[in-house]
Amino acid sequence: MSREAEERPRPKAERRNPVIASRLAREAQRVSTVSQVIEEAEPPLMLALEDLERNSCRYIYGDPKRSDYGFCGHPKREGSPYCAAHHRICHDAWQPGRAA
Ligand SMILES: [Zn+2]
Repeated sequence: MSREAEERPRPKAERRNPVIASRLAREAQRVSTVSQVIEEAEPPLMLALEDLERNSCRYIYGDPKRSDYGFCGHPKREGSPYCAAHHRICHDAWQPGRAA
């Protein structure tokens, strides 16, 4: 049986595909911005949905499919459903150059 050609490890997708490579680079940058913002953000209030005020940040912590989740709850930034820190995560962090 000579199937060596098929068994050789294939080059990683990011090396073959410049689109994927740039996406991965952007994602890596976003993740580092996000973790930095999360460190700077105040600890979440972990409000339940029914406890949210009109002005409460809607950023979810935890898994909504389970019971152990809650909303950030800090005052919203003007014109955003999120507080300043979470607004950065959800908007600015996706646009390289505007983040940080
Ligand atoms: Zn928030």
